[in-house]
Amino acid sequence: MTIPMQTRKDATDSAKANGLALPVCPACGEPAEAGPLEVFQGISRYGCARCDLHFWHPVIMPDGAWYEAAYQGRDRTAMPLEPGHRFFLADSKAPNRGRLLDIGCGVGNFLAAARDAGFDVTGIEFDPSAVRFARDHYGLQRIFAISPEDFRASHPDEKFEIVTFFEVLEHQKDPQRFLNIARECLAPGGFLALSVPNRERWQKRADVLDFPPNHLTRWSPAALRRFLERNGFEILSLRQEPLGILRAAHVLSSAWRTGLVTRVAGETPPTLSSLAVMSPEEVKQTVKRVEEEPRQHLAARLARWKTSAMVPLAALILPYLRLRGYTGLYLYCLARIRQVTPATDMFEPRGHLLQKADGGQEKGVV
Ligand SMILES: [Zn+2]
Repeated sequence: MTIPMQTRKDATDSAKANGLALPVCPACGEPAEAGPLEVFQGISRYGCARCDLHFWHPVIMPDGAWYEAAYQGRDRTAMPLEPGHRFFLADSKAPNRGRLLDIGCGVGNFLAAARDAGFDVTGIEFDPSAVRFARDHYGLQRIFAISPEDFRASHPDEKFEIVTFFEVLEHQKDPQRFLNIARECLAPGGFLALSVPNRERWQKRADVLDFPPNHLTRWSPAALRRFLERNGFEILSLRQEPLGILRAAHVLSSAWRTGLVTRVAGETPPTLSSLAVMSPEEVKQTVKRVEEEPRQHLAARLARWKTSAMVPLAALILPYLRLRGYTGLYLYCLARIRQVTPATDMFEPRGHLLQKADGGQEKGVV
């Protein structure tokens, strides 16, 4: 699916010759300098030479009804804490008390853990069924099924010492606008904590969820650092999740394609991207039909068995993989708002960044 460099240059030249403007990076506002890195269902992925972000264009951000239909089922289970949550709760540079707002809090698992650790917690989440679960299961009181914009408009004077958003930024069509809202919710000197999928993680095949309309941007450590620094934040922690045995086993399993799982499954389970073109009602019916299909259960068990079978090999080669610098799925960051936004442009020379962006792309899509 990756477009060879020659084709990419041709695409750039033809766009320029036809006077077509290349899309603008949603993090730094710089127009893309080259053609797409990849095309997926008519949507192109571009790399920003200035800040190193990869972004899809054109995209439409799905609404709450779509997420509720596509992620149905999660309102029935309490999720374990994710690596970003655990990094924050263990981060010695993070505050351990204060008013905390979690944007995109899902079923409320992190909010409950933060509350139990001593924070005064508030959560907002698009998906009403996840909010219902958070209230009923964890007894969370201050949790709203509302967008960040509407929360801000209805609570204009409310400020928080910590604003968190874990695996939320990559779903945003306009990350700059999203960060502006998060920043408006912060008290002076407040902290941001977040995580995103690390574009530089170890993978053999692109993860099916890492495409529009689910994920609209792909972040590297450099892109995330530049984005936050440019917006007046000081980075306190920036950590790539170390490669774990289960992730390594999953990557090895996805590289080893036997076709057995697909044959057993019959109908291929829908990916979030194929659900993108459906109405929420159609999404609901499709997910329900696949969930109730016995062959799908068998296929899911086989896929899990295949990953389990890779665990001994993963354990054996894990030290080597880590030595080679391969990392796990997530990128975690803790940042603190500076009292005065820096007036100078904090970017390095462009040539340096261009090389880096290209390198990152080749590493990301194997
Ligand atoms: Zn950019």
